[in-house]
Amino acid sequence: MEKKDTFKKTSRRQVLGGLSIGVVAAQAAPILAQQSSTKANQQETLSMETPTKEIPNQSVKQNPVNQYPSPPFSEQPQQPPGLVSKMNPRPDHGEKSYQGSGRLVGRKALVTGGDSGIGRAAAIAFAREGADVAINYLPVEEPDAREVVELIRATGRKAAAIPGDIRNEKFCTQLVEDAVRELGGLDILVNNAGRQQSVDSILDLTTEQFDSTFKTNVYAMFWITKAAVPHLKPGASIINTTSVQAYDPSENLLDYAQTKSAQVAFTKSLAKQLAKKGIRVNAIAPGPYWTPLQVSGGQPQSTIVQFGSDTPIGRPGQPAELAPIYVVLASQESSYATGQVYGAAGGSGNP
Ligand code: NAD
Ligand code: MG
Repeated sequence: MEKKDTFKKTSRRQVLGGLSIGVVAAQAAPILAQQSSTKANQQETLSMETPTKEIPNQSVKQNPVNQYPSPPFSEQPQQPPGLVSKMNPRPDHGEKSYQGSGRLVGRKALVTGGDSGIGRAAAIAFAREGADVAINYLPVEEPDAREVVELIRATGRKAAAIPGDIRNEKFCTQLVEDAVRELGGLDILVNNAGRQQSVDSILDLTTEQFDSTFKTNVYAMFWITKAAVPHLKPGASIINTTSVQAYDPSENLLDYAQTKSAQVAFTKSLAKQLAKKGIRVNAIAPGPYWTPLQVSGGQPQSTIVQFGSDTPIGRPGQPAELAPIYVVLASQESSYATGQVYGAAGGSGNP
């Protein structure tokens, strides 16, 4: 069954609910009152003219179960690595909703896989929090990457687009050097790029696939981090995107799940090594999120149709729902957090 993009279905009640929250906030914080009411007025005008236009999803108190699209989804195979623009419904990376509050002003961040999915959500949030951001992606993902670069530049921050294949050590070293040169330093590294291809039997899992998954998810993280560490100063933060697969591996993700466990061990070991330098290292372990990785072979299409239905929330997460965790881990607010893994899996999963 074809599922419509329900992001556009924000009701008038939700719009008005958002406005009333805005009004209460304005009363509580006089300094912000003028800005808030201006925003509220703009939203009201918007909602009058185009009643179906959405308002920032993240700023309105609402039931998270209904906040985003739920299964069933339509089958939608793509060649890996897949593009955001071909997904139905289109994922939410916070393009219209993420509101920054100056938590990363002046920081410089490199996000691998920053063109789409979870990396795109982190890149947008970082820029709106005041950081300059470099993203890496595969050359075939240029259309997705262009959208992210525009969104970063729209915040007034610097954006660097550095395409290339991280399965190559030389490229990984060059990537870090280019990011440091283009941004003028490095404070935040997000090792987020990943490869996931579902294979049902160990008998069909080729050495080529095994090698490619490990190169992308494990070796590249090692190469990029090794190149980055000499540039990182006390207060810097490294964040690795692992997965619930590290703790509860699916039978069809034999190679991928191992790489996600390796990332957890890498995070915890490196955190101990770098603590004395004042550099924190943490990981985030997402459950099912609606991204190109999943529809382009990460799961069989039969699973895509029901994607996220087995979580207590009953739907997949959207990348925008993860961005705040990346922001907190990148910022000084989490100064005592290192060697930790943060779960975000809609009520199931570990840690
Ligand atoms: P995504 O497809 O949007 O992002 C993955 C990115 O990896 C791609 O955009 C691509 O740029 C990059 N990439 C892959 N191979 C590469 C290579 N050889 N060279 C350079 N870049 C390469 O999907 P996503 O789900 O946002 O994935 C981001 C991370 O989240 C991955 O590490 C993935 O394992 C992890 N994760 C995703 C989910 C989920 O349900 N979506 C769950 C747990 C963990
Ligand atoms: Mg992509």
